[in-house]
Amino acid sequence: MPIDPDFMKKPKAGTHNDHDVRGEVDPPEKLGVHGTQVAVDQDICNGDAICVSVCPVSVFEMIDTPGHPVSGQKSDPINESECIFCGACEVNCPTQAIKITEP
Ligand code: SF4
Repeated sequence: MPIDPDFMKKPKAGTHNDHDVRGEVDPPEKLGVHGTQVAVDQDICNGDAICVSVCPVSVFEMIDTPGHPVSGQKSDPINESECIFCGACEVNCPTQAIKITEP
């Protein structure tokens, strides 16, 4: 199941690494959607880090998420403000965990 296109309607659960987190958050099993313009549903992310490889401006960093049922690492949009909206991460993500929204 891909990231919910209406994720912005989910309640804000807090912040992490200077970006917003939305949806249900109950670590280690539920991590929510991280970011706004660059949004990663960490509960869908399989930790393969393709987004890290394809992003030309190093928006993503892998973080350890031990105990998550899908994967023990997740992509985190730590440099969300650097995004140039090329779309490469969104297109290449095998689990469709990323949604890019130009402001
Ligand atoms: S849209 Fe392009 S610049 Fe923005 S996070 Fe994805 S790969 Fe990086």
